[in-house]
Amino acid sequence: MEQRLRKNKMRMTRQRQVILEVLRKHNTHPTADEIYAMVRRRLPRISLGTVYRNLEILSDLGEIQTLELSGHQKRFDGNPNKHYHIRCVGCGRVDDVPLAPMAQLENQLYGSTVYTIIGHRLEFTGLCPECSRKEQLRRQDASHLA
Ligand SMILES: [Zn+2]
Ligand SMILES: [Zn+2]
Repeated sequence: MEQRLRKNKMRMTRQRQVILEVLRKHNTHPTADEIYAMVRRRLPRISLGTVYRNLEILSDLGEIQTLELSGHQKRFDGNPNKHYHIRCVGCGRVDDVPLAPMAQLENQLYGSTVYTIIGHRLEFTGLCPECSRKEQLRRQDASHLA
């Protein structure tokens, strides 16, 4: 019994390690499904449930971040440090933005709300290069037809 437990734990650790490696390597802020697809190339027998469970554990451990961006599927970030993101409203692509976290935002609120501030989220929205190009083509087409 104990041996099985230990074996289980070890297998879990190996799976968790691979999930973490995959996340650290791909800075695309993938969804659980995308992570599952990537991890399966290395661990063909892993289940989606195991991937979910390990993502949750890694997030609790502070090794990764769970991103809950407005109106979208949860995404995961292999970079555990605070940073902001920009999301493409066309295709949902998410990138990091080169902007230092603004702790002063929280300080500014100090005393002016009944809440104890524990953090803030800031999400930029825009069009990625590919969607910008598509949008431009669409406009050109429209002006052609007019
Ligand atoms: Zn896009
Ligand atoms: Zn990020």
